[in-house]
Amino acid sequence: MKADTPVLKDILLVGGGHAHVSVLRMFGMKPMPGVRLTLITRDIHTPYSGMLPGYVAGHYDYDEVHIDLGPLVRFAGARLYHGEVQGLDLGQRLVKVPGRPPVHYDLLSINTGSRPRAIDVPGALEYALPVKPIDQWLRDWQALQVRVLSSQGDFRILVVGGGAGGVELALSTQHRLTALLREQGDEGSRLHYELITDGSEILPTHNAGVRRRFIRVLGERGIAVHLNSRAVAVEPKGVRAENGEFHPADAVLWVTYAAAPAWFAQSALAVDQEGFIAVDRELRSVSHPEVFAAGDVASLPDPRPKSGVFAVRQGPVLTHNLRRAVAGRPLRPYRPQKRFLGLIGTGDAYAVASRGNWSWEGRLLWNWKDWIDRRFMRRFNELPEMAQEAGPELGGIADAEAIRELSTLALRCGGCGAKVGSRVLSRVINRLPAQRRDDVLIGLDAPDDAAVFVVPPGKLMVQSVDYFRAFIDDPYTFGRIAANHALGDIFAMGAEAQSALAIATVPYGREQVVEQTLSELLTGALDTLAPTGAVLAGGHSSEGAELAFGLTVNGLIAKDALLRKGGMQPGDALILTKPIGTGTLFAADMRGKAKGRWVDGAIQSMLVSNQGAAACLHRHGATACTDVTGFGLLGHLVEMTRASDVDVRLDLAAVPLLDGAEQAVAAGILSSLQPQNLRLRRAVRDPETLSTHPRYPLLFDPQTAGGLLASVPADAGSACLDALHGLGYAHAAIIGRVEPRTTEAAPIQVNV
Ligand SMILES: Cc1cc2nc3c(=O)[nH]c(=O)nc-3n(C[C@H](O)[C@H](O)[C@H](O)COP(=O)(O)OP(=O)(O)OC[C@H]3O[C@@H](n4cnc5c(N)ncnc54)[C@H](O)[C@@H]3O)c2cc1C
Repeated sequence: MKADTPVLKDILLVGGGHAHVSVLRMFGMKPMPGVRLTLITRDIHTPYSGMLPGYVAGHYDYDEVHIDLGPLVRFAGARLYHGEVQGLDLGQRLVKVPGRPPVHYDLLSINTGSRPRAIDVPGALEYALPVKPIDQWLRDWQALQVRVLSSQGDFRILVVGGGAGGVELALSTQHRLTALLREQGDEGSRLHYELITDGSEILPTHNAGVRRRFIRVLGERGIAVHLNSRAVAVEPKGVRAENGEFHPADAVLWVTYAAAPAWFAQSALAVDQEGFIAVDRELRSVSHPEVFAAGDVASLPDPRPKSGVFAVRQGPVLTHNLRRAVAGRPLRPYRPQKRFLGLIGTGDAYAVASRGNWSWEGRLLWNWKDWIDRRFMRRFNELPEMAQEAGPELGGIADAEAIRELSTLALRCGGCGAKVGSRVLSRVINRLPAQRRDDVLIGLDAPDDAAVFVVPPGKLMVQSVDYFRAFIDDPYTFGRIAANHALGDIFAMGAEAQSALAIATVPYGREQVVEQTLSELLTGALDTLAPTGAVLAGGHSSEGAELAFGLTVNGLIAKDALLRKGGMQPGDALILTKPIGTGTLFAADMRGKAKGRWVDGAIQSMLVSNQGAAACLHRHGATACTDVTGFGLLGHLVEMTRASDVDVRLDLAAVPLLDGAEQAVAAGILSSLQPQNLRLRRAVRDPETLSTHPRYPLLFDPQTAGGLLASVPADAGSACLDALHGLGYAHAAIIGRVEPRTTEAAPIQVNV
């Protein structure tokens, strides 16, 4: 959303299911000024159920069967919060997500899908592999492949569940495992499959013709089917059925009826007998009109099977109704189709079609299914050019109070008058946890004109300031990263963090929205500061065109413990504690060209504190240290070589990179700061010979909350690296060596 469009209503989408991807796409095609869309999702890459069996069977790769929510959310002009919702406060209209402040909504839509019911069968949670959540299942599936391939003798796989999911999964996993075994010279006859179901037939929601075809296919593939066999216990060596039979198994795939998470019912939303959200024909909760639900989690007045087909079809109606509900207009009913075409694969690029009482089968049907599914995925993974935002016509969604508030927005002035209102500020500050430290004499707990600090005898105060525009649309996470970035300077010098002053610019908007944004921002900053021992002692906030945030951080250190950029000694090992690439990745993200998992990986890396690494480097006798930020790895290295009067030999292959950084650079996407940083190439010997190397541009990539770059004595290098890995700096690496200063003008030799 454009920063100059005030936010009037918040629509919160929970779960990146099949209906919400349509909502996002349709809002991207036609934005609704004044409406802010936020998606909270557990998975950044959401699987498309129709292609999953094909992925399992080996016909598709990961990206072909997943919708990347990162670019889609950006296309929609929405905010992406990565997290798993675990509760609702319907009274306060808040969604609870562990690890971040509750998120407010005006309208809430839930599309989180279901999981196979396992909870009531003893042992299922311990020993079976449930097919959902899919990301977990995909990890289990990888592990199962390894187990089967490394096993000796018979291997028995039991599938529990006789619906389309169970049958398809049995056939597709069997196809893949047999193919893998054959690749290693094993003809696969030691792999045994069985399927059990509590029903008196398989595929109960399909017609008799489809059932007959699958009974034949399963028979031909040697998959024994046991009907009327309800699993009542899963044991380490197999599954016990209600009829007394025991089915031995080395692995149990659990594909039973869908179950709902407990938090729907716990939050007092009206639910059906199974715990799914009871909605009316307009997909609106029957108990809470401001809540919508779609896909497997929605229980409709006219129930339908839990199938992705219905979730997909609900998408356009849900979009329409969210738009209408936010403007207080009448809604449209969702009319589920009585019959639908089901194309169920058999794993070997062959499919059976089912519609009403009609059925057919063949290879052509698989090709057709493949064509339909790929076309569907293209709608979400190949997005049209970004829509131009319409001007802020807010008719319909602005109530009288909002219009009054908005009319004063235009009159707000700059300078000191641009301050966030004192009522808002004091409400936000009062909600923050107490900020006390003995050496902070006057801080937020007893505010005055300025904060006052004590510098204990024998200590020095180390200060640094950073401030930048938001590069992600999530104030809480942005606050955490900004604080981490600012603290990097303090830690690089070996100091202990003591206190911070914050400066925040929050987009103009309604008081409630400004308050919420400021609150999320400061909570994020405090969640980073608190574990380091630092307190927030004061700050300044103002309203402006866009979200920006920074901190002045103060640290304390004994004079003789100070670590500086100068001090590198010839022979020292050069250590970098975090991977680089944030600049290019966020440049790619802004253009909708970065994969969601790349951006998420970069965010996770930016959230890693440098505190532990600094102490570790110090313990291993670091001779010099700095944090890698805006000047890029090379810029900061040049500063160190100059201050230390040494040369450096850098091993380009050893420099750790964030996932996707090389691809983004290869696509020609560089940070806007890159050209300035590139001027430092004169510090590199023979830059022309390096210029075509795919990794070379990343040396100039500006970093946000980057890692520490330090020199440690050569004999301590590998012990220090092991210790860093042990502390969780998994990508830390020795990236080069310090050498005596030569007569060469350029101090840095890059080895490729
Ligand atoms: C093996 C198998 C094969 C299938 N094949 C087909 C098929 O061919 N065709 C078909 O139509 N159906 C198929 N189904 C059924 C289909 O998977 C589901 O009906 C469909 O995925 C439901 O879609 P949904 O939109 O409700 O949710 P989902 O597709 O499950 O999406 C839910 C999303 O919400 C997110 N999420 C979950 N919990 C939370 C939370 N607490 N907070 C935030 N985010 C959360 C998840 O990360 C995910 O992105 C199959 C099912 C199985 C098990």
